[in-house]
Amino acid sequence: MWETDARLTSPAMTDDVDSGRGESLSPDDAFTLLADRTRIKILRALGDASEPGVPETLTFSELRQRADVSGSGRFNYHLQQLLGHFVEDTDDGYRLRYAGKRVYQSIKTGTFTERVQVERFELSSSCHVCGTRQAAAYRDSMFHVRCPDCDAQCYKYFVPPSTVIDRSKTELLHAANDRIQREIGAMAKGVCPWCCARLTSRVLPPDAEMPLRDNPAIQHRVLHSCETCDGSVYTRLGGLVVSHPAVVSFFYDHGVDVSEKLLWTMAFASTDERTTVVSEDPWRASVTVECEGDELRLVLDDAPSVVRVEE
Ligand SMILES: [Zn+2]
Ligand SMILES: [Zn+2]
Repeated sequence: MWETDARLTSPAMTDDVDSGRGESLSPDDAFTLLADRTRIKILRALGDASEPGVPETLTFSELRQRADVSGSGRFNYHLQQLLGHFVEDTDDGYRLRYAGKRVYQSIKTGTFTERVQVERFELSSSCHVCGTRQAAAYRDSMFHVRCPDCDAQCYKYFVPPSTVIDRSKTELLHAANDRIQREIGAMAKGVCPWCCARLTSRVLPPDAEMPLRDNPAIQHRVLHSCETCDGSVYTRLGGLVVSHPAVVSFFYDHGVDVSEKLLWTMAFASTDERTTVVSEDPWRASVTVECEGDELRLVLDDAPSVVRVEE
């Protein structure tokens, strides 16, 4: 039996977050601050010196030596520019703040710089629309699974270049699946997968203007958008139920960990083949999940939230 305890705070506590902001820096100013090679060298030196889970603290001279910057005055000037937002000045020396760590991680993962590509390769799974073998590819930071024959787009999703580097094709598929499942799982809970702010989601009418509308695999799309970071993405209804506890336990009862199962191999999760609009007013759609001949039916409203589970 599933139990949910929504009481994350004690009754005496208010649930409102005191989100007082410290001295913030506009995004324009933050990026302008980083547009300098010496400053990037300083962030890299601090990041490179750190052990996993332990942010390294370096003294002024250690940091200058590791960053390989000539001229103490010049080095100090650039270091001062980074203090407060990207670098913290502690009693023991300098270390990365959260924002500095994120910049360092972006540099390391190559999100802004790497141009890796994986040519299309055939998968062992079949297109849910026409039965042809699906194919995967990676280009311009987008991972795709589509049908080379009927052009059904089973998944197209941003994954960073580090997903691909030093991985076999099988490992790439699992790493991409993990990323996509995790992010869609956050969206299903109304949480922005990029910045963690509140996400707005709505089911679009089938004739709405959108990219890739001619995808034969999908008719009902959900648009998720975040006002805080301006991120937006379309998903299908079925993808949103993969992380639902009823679906997770349904697969678990069949000895399957659905989080490890590749999304594009499951018809309900990657196409509308198992999705049916069952009522218009109020709008309701059902998604039928299958495993080893058994079925589980989830009914969603236009929020979209699961309103009913039928075995
Ligand atoms: Zn096809
Ligand atoms: Zn966001």
